[in-house]
Amino acid sequence: MLDIKILTAYPEMFPGNLEHSLIGKALKEKIFNIDTINLHEYGIDDRMSIDDEPFGGGPGMVLRPDVVEKALNSIPEQHKRDSVKIYLTPSGTPLNQEKLGILAKQEKITILCGRFEGVDQRALDVLGFEEISIGDYVLAGGEIAAQVLLEGCIRLIPGVLGHPESILEESFSNSLLEYPHYTRPQVWEDSLGNKHDVPEVLRSGHHENIKKWRLNKSVEKTKTIRPDLYVKKIKKQD
Ligand code: SAM
Repeated sequence: MLDIKILTAYPEMFPGNLEHSLIGKALKEKIFNIDTINLHEYGIDDRMSIDDEPFGGGPGMVLRPDVVEKALNSIPEQHKRDSVKIYLTPSGTPLNQEKLGILAKQEKITILCGRFEGVDQRALDVLGFEEISIGDYVLAGGEIAAQVLLEGCIRLIPGVLGHPESILEESFSNSLLEYPHYTRPQVWEDSLGNKHDVPEVLRSGHHENIKKWRLNKSVEKTKTIRPDLYVKKIKKQD
């Protein structure tokens, strides 16, 4: 079982998205478990503050290192010692499918969700948090980012997906974006009366041709939308 601990100022946001659909089923089946640690329980002074003004000035507040350490120390010693510790931040290493695959093999993960301007850097360095970003944009807090990372990771754990083979061909598995999909009706008439057919090759039953068509579409799409990924694929082949 993947044992997950989340340090957050908003524990009520969990499991959130993670208790629905296939991932929710995995939660019920105890393929993973989530415990939240409320940062507010480890606040200081009579107001139980968890943040303070940034040294050097500037807007916003910063999560205090002593609060983060106290919250982390509330986690059982063995979990704290053995777990991967992640701080979600827009200034971290960009998350990708390869990293999710690595995380899916872990038994223990601890995630720190930031708020305000972020977390005192000393806490991250001293307590050993790896900094990960879910994309080049800024959210209000780390809770949704944590759910994005966890959903991507948990679906890769064996037994979670109904069709595990879908992982082999989906986007990023080969440094390619996935080919387009089509389903019934074979001819779809839209509300303006225009008719749209499914590519003929997909109805041919000729597996080799279907495979070739899908690969071509994948390559075409990747070259257009993500030329950076395509260059990566070519480099891998060399
Ligand atoms: N001042 C920070 C900066 O410019 O990099 C942004 C802080 S953001 C308003 C507050 C929190 O949201 C962060 O500490 C982080 O936990 C989370 N967050 C926001 N965007 C994120 C992203 N792209 N990836 C991961 N976490 C993010």
